[in-house]
Amino acid sequence: MLGQPALWKALQRGFESGKAAHAFLLVGQRGSGKSTAARFLAAAALCRAAARPCGECESCRRVLSGTNPDLIEMKAPDTSKSGSIGVDEVRELTRELSEKPFGGGGRAVLVQGAHRMTPAAQNALLKTLEEPGAGTVFLLLAEQEEAMLPTIRSRCRLVRLGRLSLEEMRRGLLARGVPEAEAEALYDRSDGILGRALEIRGNEEVQKMEAFCASLLGGGGEKAMIARLYEAAKFEKPEQALFFDRLEALLRQELTRAERQGESYASPGFTSLALHSMMKEMLLAKKRLSSNVSFASAIEPLFWRLFGG
Ligand SMILES: [Zn+2]
Repeated sequence: MLGQPALWKALQRGFESGKAAHAFLLVGQRGSGKSTAARFLAAAALCRAAARPCGECESCRRVLSGTNPDLIEMKAPDTSKSGSIGVDEVRELTRELSEKPFGGGGRAVLVQGAHRMTPAAQNALLKTLEEPGAGTVFLLLAEQEEAMLPTIRSRCRLVRLGRLSLEEMRRGLLARGVPEAEAEALYDRSDGILGRALEIRGNEEVQKMEAFCASLLGGGGEKAMIARLYEAAKFEKPEQALFFDRLEALLRQELTRAERQGESYASPGFTSLALHSMMKEMLLAKKRLSSNVSFASAIEPLFWRLFGG
């Protein structure tokens, strides 16, 4: 497990002493390692060795290979257009939980995309959370904590997965065969999120979008601004998401640089204040987009800000 070593040790001890929480809410953005963390906790919950998870017993190996029948995964059905998890999925889960565990020991329930559960589904899950069968551990994976009902949150041990340090990122990348020389640049571009760094690496579309975003910070007057806006107006949905994602990473990168260099920060020459206001404008643009205006109208004020500095 990368990052927060003390936390993982403490959670591991909880399982070893039988004092672990029976529900965990793992919160972190996409690529922050929620699934890996959940598998680690599930293995610890189901393992019967003294030091858990041992990583070697049949139960551990089956958790890691995704074939342990006592690890039940719940996610939005492929048929769900909105990608949400509804009451039906929770009912199916409750039915499964009413049967005896295969291994005769405990059971772990992993909910992928828990932030996509409808309020009704969360309420339905609440009952099961309140009276879990003996040895059942719930692992809820969510991108936004606020998407979970307070009643659910209050019953879960909250684990936040955030950015890694540069050193942790280096170790994580190395373990996945990425040369050390690439670590630092990937760290800046991915905001310290390992999954994102792996996604970015060698991805041409991402690189193109990064170049586009960088060109927005260059200034160049009204004409250049309008030409860029015209270009962006043609972005399809996935590109729109990628645009916001890459622009945010770029602004963060510039902010870190500005804060590190202080007065001597000159390239591309914005003050921290200006960068903060760009970031704010970007969040507003995202908000406008979600309230059904066109992408071009949503981002126009942002483009003025980016070009104006
Ligand atoms: Zn084990």
